[in-house]
Amino acid sequence: MFNRRKFIKTGAASASLLLLDKQSFAEILPRQKTGKEQFPIVISTWDFGVYANKEAWKTLSKGGRALDAIEAGARVPEELDITNGTVGRTGTPDRDGHVTLDSCIMDEFGNCGSVAAMENIAHPISVARMVMERTPHVMLVGEGATQFAVEQGMKKEKLLTPKAEKAWKEWLKTAKYSPVMNVENGTNRPGGKYNHDTIGMLAIDAKGNISGGCTTSGMAFKMHGRVGDSPIIGAGLYVDNEVGGATSTGVGEEVIRNVGSFLVVELMRQGLSPEEACKEAVMRIIKKKPENAEKVQVGFLAINKKGEYGAYAIQKGFSYAVCNAEKQDLLISGKSYY
Ligand code: ASP
Repeated sequence: MFNRRKFIKTGAASASLLLLDKQSFAEILPRQKTGKEQFPIVISTWDFGVYANKEAWKTLSKGGRALDAIEAGARVPEELDITNGTVGRTGTPDRDGHVTLDSCIMDEFGNCGSVAAMENIAHPISVARMVMERTPHVMLVGEGATQFAVEQGMKKEKLLTPKAEKAWKEWLKTAKYSPVMNVENGTNRPGGKYNHDTIGMLAIDAKGNISGGCTTSGMAFKMHGRVGDSPIIGAGLYVDNEVGGATSTGVGEEVIRNVGSFLVVELMRQGLSPEEACKEAVMRIIKKKPENAEKVQVGFLAINKKGEYGAYAIQKGFSYAVCNAEKQDLLISGKSYY
């Protein structure tokens, strides 16, 4: 389990690092389109994945279990996502001003747990794991999820940061609710640049076992009660220890409609590489709704049992982070349809 006290001690230093490094990733880090790697390995969506991976690596490099690495890693952006405001403590609220968080986790045995639309708890990934390990259920939502988290010893706290509140109030001034959104860096749509991101993580430990997790505050300024793909097993995340794992980011509705992550894993089972499987899932979304292809972003990230990884997105701008024995902070620009 994550050592919260120790993390807070180093929190301030890590926060400024995050801001500084975000500017320079593009220049300083080597890039490649796909990878063939040895395990242990951990891969994560977006640039904050670099920090999440580093924390996960502490567990993986000591021979620890992929599931523990995923939980520890996902907690980093939940705590410190000071640049994006889309995960955990600094998440952006819904249109009524509530920060509601979605998360799920899945292990090498096919066990899984999830929380959706949960308020007032900063670490949904840990609650998702508790649902998996301490209840006979897979998913808890809303007040029930918060109640369960508190019963399990999690701290109940206010999550709307001053920065997120300011952004929400700005948005309210001109807001016309339309759930069509989420083009990279788009500022002319509801939520604009605050629209996303989710951290989706996949890890293979030294024993070759795969686990995954994902956590997000979801679509910015969403309808109260809206739940995206991220807490839905098969949509935002899927792991099959015989084949591999997949996770997604972007417009959750499109991912749910196509059961995206399950689809990617099943395509890998049929012999496609991780990147080919991600591309095929993206193409299916585009084929069903060509009119959406220019308006929405969806990105898939996948790893197979051999430790090969790959990604594919609809729009440009999707990146993912890779960490293994050779490279601790690799950020890769994913291929895309546009
Ligand atoms: N997939 C998330 C959702 O729809 C948001 C994102 O990844 O950008 O809630």
